Amino acid sequence: MSFKPANKIQDLQYFGEFGGVNPSISDSSTYTFLSAKTMFDTFEGNADGCYLYSRHTTPSNLYLGEALAAMEGTEIANVSASGMGAITPVLLQLCDAGDHIISSRTIYGGTYAFLKNFIPRLNIETSFVDITKLDIVEAAITKHTKVLYCESVSNPLLEIADIKGLSKIAKKHNLKLVIDNTFSPLSISPAKLGADVVIHSLTKFINGSSDTVGGVVCGTQEFINDLRNVNDGASMLLGSTMDSLRAASILKNMRTLHIRMKQHSKNAMYIAKQFEAIGFKTVYPGLASHPSHELFKSMMNSEYGFGGMFTIDVGSLDNANALMELMQHNNLGYLAVSLGFYKTLFSAPGSSTSSEIPEEEQKEMGLSDGLIRFSIGLDDDIERTYKMMRKCMEDLNILETKDRLQEIM
Ligand code: PLP
Repeated sequence: MSFKPANKIQDLQYFGEFGGVNPSISDSSTYTFLSAKTMFDTFEGNADGCYLYSRHTTPSNLYLGEALAAMEGTEIANVSASGMGAITPVLLQLCDAGDHIISSRTIYGGTYAFLKNFIPRLNIETSFVDITKLDIVEAAITKHTKVLYCESVSNPLLEIADIKGLSKIAKKHNLKLVIDNTFSPLSISPAKLGADVVIHSLTKFINGSSDTVGGVVCGTQEFINDLRNVNDGASMLLGSTMDSLRAASILKNMRTLHIRMKQHSKNAMYIAKQFEAIGFKTVYPGLASHPSHELFKSMMNSEYGFGGMFTIDVGSLDNANALMELMQHNNLGYLAVSLGFYKTLFSAPGSSTSSEIPEEEQKEMGLSDGLIRFSIGLDDDIERTYKMMRKCMEDLNILETKDRLQEIM
């Protein structure tokens, strides 16, 4: 039977302190003990069900972690204050000074900056590779390599990682495969395909209302215990703790994730098809023209679709900026970074979320100036949205520019 992540979330049953249908929020940073010995045992991690201090953990954070672990099919999960607050401790926990990481070259700009500029200070080096080429990935492994890192669907180029193939390589060389699944919750279940650790920025689709940042690490009990260890756990000691009020609100939003993902996917598929049909270079994993369309199909939990993210190339940064400003003016969405909101969000990654990546490297990986990244919203009438977007393009003569560009090429 195929994995049904939404059922796993639905099957979790909670009651609040007074019989509420939502679990009670633990609105405290510290907890009392009737006996000093229980306090000591709790600190040592030997008193189940007791809480000591909210940076360590809280009931609300545990509930949210439980739901995310259920969704990803891992033993347990640890929530954090942001996606970066999940990614950085994982890498620091898995690597010592002198170790080596192999990372996809197309990843979120913040993660790229951490690997490229920050972690070398600790003498941890990273090779950035084309993650879609398994032979190149394997060839980059050295005797110091500890981690293979990538996003299931990459930000912003929407490259697809062959998680089963990468997992085989990781197992063969005794590496940990760490997958950031932020772009494809429910659609792809990396742990089921062989990933050792699955990370999300909860800021995006999972929370879905662009009102908070948050992150999660899903993995084995042993690894999460390591991260939470009071003596040498990177999550514990770097202190990126989620607030309980936020954990409670994200858990409530997760209950509608399956409905939202289906609508995001349906809308993105419709618009991407239309843009491709009128001749724009359109990248969406749901299109047959995507180089990894078949791979995505072979990995996906099909009922959730190909996700809400696609890109188009409108030829130049000036075109991209003018179009985004006009679309925002016409209330088609927001010129904003981030993704997974109920309204459409659009940005030009080269000058925003991927600006940490030097220009020559952007060019090399195919990140062009005119690229617009769309996170399509939950619009009920997507045909109307498309017509309004097309009208913006016509008003700006962008359709003509595209035809001229094609003639020149
Ligand atoms: N991973 C991906 C794929 C992202 O797109 C982002 C943010 O855009 C992050 C991680 C970082 O998440 P956060 O902003 O919650 O720290």
